[in-house]
Amino acid sequence: MSKAFTGGCACGAVRYEISSEPIFMNDCQCHDCQHASGTGHGSYLTFAGRKSMTLAGKATHWDMVGDSGNVKTKGFCPACGSPVYVSYAAMPDLLTITAASLDEPGRFKPQVVTYHVRAHAWDHLDPAVPKVDRMPPT
Ligand SMILES: [Zn+2]
Ligand SMILES: [Zn+2]
Repeated sequence: MSKAFTGGCACGAVRYEISSEPIFMNDCQCHDCQHASGTGHGSYLTFAGRKSMTLAGKATHWDMVGDSGNVKTKGFCPACGSPVYVSYAAMPDLLTITAASLDEPGRFKPQVVTYHVRAHAWDHLDPAVPKVDRMPPT
């Protein structure tokens, strides 16, 4: 098994360690991700198996309803404001983390660009990565 995925917020108050491999890696150009990131897209790794994950520090949670109608809980650091993770009320076994929160962000390898329908002309992503208008069916 490869080594754990570790990371956290910019100031270090919120940390995680995940000992499984990501099941999904994507760049998302939806409007929510634009707002949360402050730029054209968010970059995410999604893991299954909450038992293999540890979270340290106290993130502030914000619940919002995604396009799918499901509640997403965004976890961000109350001190530095960095978005760190997203959890899903309907899929409690999953946890999504932001790619730049990784200690080694180079381990992020996007498989697909989601919500390309919302993309801005100035937000250029790797042309080799497939793009879908919304979310692929899970
Ligand atoms: Zn922080
Ligand atoms: Zn999005």
